Amino acid sequence: MRTVKFVNLGKQYLHLREEILAKFDEISKEGAYILTRELADFESHFAEYCGTRYALGVGNGFDALYLSLCALNIGAGDEVITAPNSFVATAAAIARTGARIVFSDVGDDMNLDPALIESAITDRTKAIMPVHLTGRIADMDPIVKIAKQYQLNVIEDAAQAVGAGYKGKRAGAFGVCAGFSLHPLKNLHVHGDGGLITTDASALYHTLAACRNHGLRNRDECEFWGMNSRLDAIQAGIANIKLRHLDAWNTRIRAIACLYSDHLRNYVKVPHDRDDEDPVYHCYMIRFRDRDGLQRFLAHAGIETKVHYPLPLHLQPSARALGYPRGSFPMAEELSRTILSLPIYPELEDDEVHYVIDKIIQYCKKC
Ligand SMILES: *Cc1c(COP(=O)(O)O)cnc(C)c1O
Repeated sequence: MRTVKFVNLGKQYLHLREEILAKFDEISKEGAYILTRELADFESHFAEYCGTRYALGVGNGFDALYLSLCALNIGAGDEVITAPNSFVATAAAIARTGARIVFSDVGDDMNLDPALIESAITDRTKAIMPVHLTGRIADMDPIVKIAKQYQLNVIEDAAQAVGAGYKGKRAGAFGVCAGFSLHPLKNLHVHGDGGLITTDASALYHTLAACRNHGLRNRDECEFWGMNSRLDAIQAGIANIKLRHLDAWNTRIRAIACLYSDHLRNYVKVPHDRDDEDPVYHCYMIRFRDRDGLQRFLAHAGIETKVHYPLPLHLQPSARALGYPRGSFPMAEELSRTILSLPIYPELEDDEVHYVIDKIIQYCKKC
């Protein structure tokens, strides 16, 4: 039977094998792995790519968000507003600082609905953490405006959105800082865990740089109790190679998204982009009433799909103490029942995309 895999990382590796092996060899011969020139080099390329002054490599996307909150002195007694339809790490990063997670519902674009944010703000609110879900930037103009008005920090969860555009700027350039993930399933990824923080604020950057490295200002002097969360030289070297290909990959991903949308829009709800934005489709999500039936039918046809995410954050067992009953966030809950992520990655062939399209249409016609 024909199969279409949801991801195929091995295929991407084969394209870059020579370059990556040469880099591994070069770094290993040099024998320097932690906080090296290779990392500084990648950080400056990444900052330039995002249009920010600084970028800082860290251990993973969770740490990028957690360190950002800590460096902004957010903790017990504070509240942070975020979306209820994200990956668990968004909420966990807030909870781990001791701050309270305050959810606010999303709009039709699956991102924080700016019109609902103000009603979630209290005296304790310190920050808003919009998630650029699926690689589509949240509506940042009104969100930044509200944050200014109430003197709140905006920390972007840009884990899914490397390279995404909104009104001429890229993800990572809207908030006081932003967290990125280099997890193998993200558009720009390394061969293991990795993450980044971008910012324009130099004081915050220097605090974060110490924070990821045991709180050390220099080799011997510990300014405050920090963490160990660094991007190692080999991962930075791999990321440096891949960053050069990122725009071409995102272009290919957008072409696949166009193919899906053009053929499927009469059968299922497809993403509808605003004119002033440039999503990178970390996920390509359709919406369909009988989502579970469609997913089973596609699985029988050898097509792997996923649901991001079937249980909203406010209904997770870990969120019980927050006390949000079912029905608190109608849009997020509706999405969790109807969304389906289709395979999308640069190495996916046109004939595979058409096979997925044909099978979806076949099912919808039967319904
Ligand atoms: C992947 C992801 C994270 C966490 O990244 P890790 O590198 O896996 O720690 C955080 N937020 C969102 C929205 C993500 O998709």
